[in-house]
Amino acid sequence: MRRLARRLRRGEVNLLKHKSMELLKQRILTEGKCFEGGILKVDSFINHQMDPVLMGEIAAEFVRRFAGSGTNKILTIEASGIAPAIMTGYLMRLPVVFAKKKRPSTMENMLSTTVYSYTKNRNYDVCVCGDYLRPGDNVLFIDDFLANGNAAKGILDLVQQAGARLTGMGFIIEKAFQHGRDALAAYGIHIESLAIVESLDHCTIRLK
Ligand code: 5GP
Repeated sequence: MRRLARRLRRGEVNLLKHKSMELLKQRILTEGKCFEGGILKVDSFINHQMDPVLMGEIAAEFVRRFAGSGTNKILTIEASGIAPAIMTGYLMRLPVVFAKKKRPSTMENMLSTTVYSYTKNRNYDVCVCGDYLRPGDNVLFIDDFLANGNAAKGILDLVQQAGARLTGMGFIIEKAFQHGRDALAAYGIHIESLAIVESLDHCTIRLK
């Protein structure tokens, strides 16, 4: 694993790309379930039960796609972003910070922002301690889904409040029909999604 991590960081390993991401797409098609309002559940390998081997390959692909970005810290939001983020941080040998959805009463030097949750249809606060997101940090955001882009915008706000810089955003699954990528375009962010869902119409998963 260590040798693989080194080779990935140097950009020497490209073989994983097609195989592993094809596997991700196959898993989405065979195990994904559609729900009202364009929600896709992938509870059998990402959102509830997790497949660490697939997650490791997802992380390897993020390392490959963000090689040379100058990242020194990975940022995610609890809970489903933590698994891909920690795997990516492990391979990149970088610390991983997760933004919290509940304000801990003991947190000092808190940065916070409000995010609208499309899946839960309500606003929630996300916060991070300014000790772990600092001026000069070069931050890669990793999350499970990109939908409307609200969580991503909240993260951008936290990064800006901290005086840090965003190096990119990596998502396992992008739901293109909810246009989060367009919502983020104005900020000039390097966005990478490993599988892109074009439509969930009639409960059929259509991938790009
Ligand atoms: P956005 O803020 O881009 O609208 O939504 C992104 C966040 O909402 C992600 O952090 C993800 O956890 C959640 N989310 C959005 N759409 C879906 C979905 O179809 N399935 C699941 N499991 N989570 C979603």
